[in-house]
Amino acid sequence: SVDVIAIDGPAGTGKSTVAGLLAERVGAHYLDTGAMYRAATLAVLRAGVDPADATAVGQVVGPRQIRVMAGSTGETVVYLDGADVSREIRTDAVTGAVSAVSAHPAVRDKLVALQRSHAESEFLVVEGRDIGTVVFPNAAVKVFLTATPQARAQRRHLQNLEAGRDSDLSAVLESVNRRDHLDSTRAVSPLRAADDAVQIDTSDLTLDEVLDRLTELVGE
Ligand code: C5P
Repeated sequence: SVDVIAIDGPAGTGKSTVAGLLAERVGAHYLDTGAMYRAATLAVLRAGVDPADATAVGQVVGPRQIRVMAGSTGETVVYLDGADVSREIRTDAVTGAVSAVSAHPAVRDKLVALQRSHAESEFLVVEGRDIGTVVFPNAAVKVFLTATPQARAQRRHLQNLEAGRDSDLSAVLESVNRRDHLDSTRAVSPLRAADDAVQIDTSDLTLDEVLDRLTELVGE
């Protein structure tokens, strides 16, 4: 497989923005794995199935076709069974259920295989929770981004407002904390830094400062 740059970390550390811009700088494709878990979650919600029910979730997600690609301006475009669901996967309903859905091995096995297939032909910057630990343990560069809960909630809040979504800072803080707790305590592929990942606290760094550090690490 071609080289992989793995970027992991909890919600709101600036991962998506950083990963997208880094990919552009180094001439790689950007792969947003969270978007895949969100698409699987949307399918589960549409089917009216309990996100905690492993068997039912597996039956709903198994046959679904999920595809993720970069749009014309670098943004992630997500297709669920051929239909563009890029906006729908960012709703509060999906955000609230995604940790439960992504805790099931059947969901992870399917999506990890899809993620690895992208790397067969492309130089990738891959962003997620378990990229450096599970999906691409041999990635050329591994980065784990962190930030204080306040900084992360503030970022998500601003992203929501910019995207024209309703947002309440204290609700965002609670949702970010809840999701990180669920993601880091699940049995399979929990959110954690790989032993050989470079950890960067982005709380007090500008986007450009983070990008410069990463570009240095990649050696471009
Ligand atoms: O990155 P994003 O916030 O879109 O991720 C949504 C959710 O998808 C995470 O909170 C996590 O539950 C799940 N996820 C995961 N493994 C990944 C990427 C995302 O479990 N590699």
